[in-house]
Amino acid sequence: MTETQVCVAPSPYQVEHAQFETIWFTAADGVPLNFRRLRRASGTEDRGPLLLSAGTSVRADIFSPPTADTLPRYLSRAGYDVWVLNWRASIDLAPTTCTVEDAAVLDFPSAVDTIVEYTGADSIKAVVHCLGSCAFMLAISNGMLPKVSTVVSNASALHPEVAPLMWLKMPPAIGLLAKVLPDLNPQWGVHAPGFWPKLARTLMRIGHHECDNEVCKMSSFFYGVGFPALWRHENLNDDTHDWLSGEMAQVSTKLLTHVSKSIRTGHLIATGKYDELPTDYIRRAPATDARFAFMTGDHNSTFVPVSMARTFDHFDKYSPGRHVFQKMHGYGHLDVFIGDRAAEDVFPFILDELNRD
Ligand SMILES: [Zn+2]
Repeated sequence: MTETQVCVAPSPYQVEHAQFETIWFTAADGVPLNFRRLRRASGTEDRGPLLLSAGTSVRADIFSPPTADTLPRYLSRAGYDVWVLNWRASIDLAPTTCTVEDAAVLDFPSAVDTIVEYTGADSIKAVVHCLGSCAFMLAISNGMLPKVSTVVSNASALHPEVAPLMWLKMPPAIGLLAKVLPDLNPQWGVHAPGFWPKLARTLMRIGHHECDNEVCKMSSFFYGVGFPALWRHENLNDDTHDWLSGEMAQVSTKLLTHVSKSIRTGHLIATGKYDELPTDYIRRAPATDARFAFMTGDHNSTFVPVSMARTFDHFDKYSPGRHVFQKMHGYGHLDVFIGDRAAEDVFPFILDELNRD
């Protein structure tokens, strides 16, 4: 009897994952972090290293959805050596309690130093998203990332702002849950271990009927006021919508508490915990020579577009005409990276801004 072997060609998704290498390093306080590195495609002009950072509740792989093209692959083909960061809030690392401040001081300077050390580059560029962008922007605005020359920042930077309805939901929810839970988890839509997770899931199920993906709906319950909140369904292909079930997980309530206080203050708070972060930094000129492109989806219902407009205004005030602000028409929060047509609608803008010296 002979066995029949069925050979199935690997998908672009599988091929891309096989090309990443993992590089470990330590944050300034010794916490182990890592990069997922995708080197520039062979035969391309060397455009140097690029740091790519996601937000919270996700990991580096969030930039590699099952779409025809992805941002790491797109930038690699354009000649960039892509370093996708798992900072301390990544779901690929052990759950931790931290704030944006901690990541700004302890993670991002070490991350940039690691890339410079490995590559020997004089400077690097960066694409940063959501709370990863907040932490990065806090660091670079306070002179901690002098080797970064160009930045594309998405969704939120120094001035996180949410929709009016979120003002009703967020402070009491985070205030209560932070007292009893170390983290929140969109996976509670599938498995809710204990009273508080079950209560959150019950409340989610009362209000969310937009799809059959419990993790998608739980993410929307936590991270905005939309149906869904983090992306627009019409921008995702079916495979990506399914894939997200395994890509959303825990986020520290301490981190969300810091962001919630920052939203009420009108900008990211520096609490005085670190000497590197003066509490009045927001009233000073940004301590960086980098050029910035601020972008966001015009339907972003996690951090509303005025978030980025305010940070752009802050930078433009000190260096008029040098930086740009771009809204992505028809896009929400995360679908600018994982949308089925993001490679046509969004990635060219990112690349153009990175290539502009
Ligand atoms: Zn959904």
